[in-house]
Amino acid sequence: MEKEEGDETIRFVTDRMFGKLSTWLRVLGYDTVYAADLNDGSVQAVEDEDKALAAFAIVESRVLLTRDKGLVAAATKKGVQCLYIKTDEVMEQLKELLRYNVNLNLEPVPLRCSVCNASIRPVEESEEDMLKETSYVPTSMVGKWEFWICVRCGRIYWEGSHWRNMREMLRQLQ
Ligand SMILES: [Zn+2]
Repeated sequence: MEKEEGDETIRFVTDRMFGKLSTWLRVLGYDTVYAADLNDGSVQAVEDEDKALAAFAIVESRVLLTRDKGLVAAATKKGVQCLYIKTDEVMEQLKELLRYNVNLNLEPVPLRCSVCNASIRPVEESEEDMLKETSYVPTSMVGKWEFWICVRCGRIYWEGSHWRNMREMLRQLQ
């Protein structure tokens, strides 16, 4: 893959092996559609899902990440930009992307819902009641921390220990 300006706007579609990698790419700000989210169950056969993934990658100009060499061959033939990822572990997978010269941002950014890939926006002061009613939000942090909410699924985010751990792990890639 050519290293070029604007890699931070690169968009991905990932196969079913990459649920965790999809989550991480979203935390890093990348628009990442995961195969299992794309297929609502209407596509049953693996070959059909592969075809759907390749077609979706073309229509949306997304880079297809896959562990399936057969899919790489078939999709590349159709003009899809594909990257074959061979490792199991997410940090190793990110390293593979870097080796492909994908100029990855390696800092978590509050842009995207790691669950559903939609945008997240800052929670307003007037919405603090909503935060207090959300079971997984520590009430002691409301009013002190900055929170974000997913515009689609409503998931709440903040820069807690989860992000610090991720940042720590990402530092080892730099
Ligand atoms: Zn969401």
